[in-house]
Amino acid sequence: MRIDIITVVPELLESPLSHSIVGRAIKKGLVEIHIHNLRKYGKGPRQQVDDYSYGGDAGMVIMVEPVFNMINELKAEREYDEVIYMSPDGDILSQGIANELSLKGNIIILCGHYKGIDHRIREHLITREISVGDYVLSGGELPAAILADSIIRLIPGALTDETSALSDSFQDDLLSPPVYTRPSEFNGWKVPEVLLSGNPKLIKEWQDEQAVERTRRLRPHLLSE
Ligand code: SAH
Repeated sequence: MRIDIITVVPELLESPLSHSIVGRAIKKGLVEIHIHNLRKYGKGPRQQVDDYSYGGDAGMVIMVEPVFNMINELKAEREYDEVIYMSPDGDILSQGIANELSLKGNIIILCGHYKGIDHRIREHLITREISVGDYVLSGGELPAAILADSIIRLIPGALTDETSALSDSFQDDLLSPPVYTRPSEFNGWKVPEVLLSGNPKLIKEWQDEQAVERTRRLRPHLLSE
């Protein structure tokens, strides 16, 4: 898989996408991430990529032309399955969307900044819009990092047994059961007895019960879908 991310602040993406599970997936060759600075196609000596908005609203808007040139440069090299714009009014990111995107070959992710991007980009160049929730952030970089992380950890081979995705929350419309590690007692706080029983059947039953109980209490809509 290959993910190309277009941004005006590449520094915001470099660290989140080069460590831990994502960093290892890159090293193993399971995914390539290419971060592109939109200023490459900026105008004039200041490599300007934004301008005042028509209609006089406060805030700068990313211009069509640099984005058009950047996306065309990438599309000339290879086919893309999706050109995604991170946007507060997009589809809210879910495990289902992450699962679906983890099966794609090449995707572009465009990060907005300032007041957003010229709407013509969304109308003509974007195939999908994704939000990380109903709140507004300063730029699309952190949302893009969240999206990329949620996708990459699902690529076969990215997770080892120790970090298996199958038992994670949402994977089967259930939240994950609580987890504990050594010591079995700390400060008088005990690990549930059943987990120390060594009986896999009882442990599985307890975990299933906990998953259903937590889902009913914390995310009831998952059970009714
Ligand atoms: N004026 C816009 C917000 C712009 S915020 C509006 O009201 O909808 C600047 C950029 O940050 C956006 O272009 C988008 O790329 C990104 N962004 C902000 N919040 C986001 C969210 N919840 N999900 C995904 N991207 C977001």
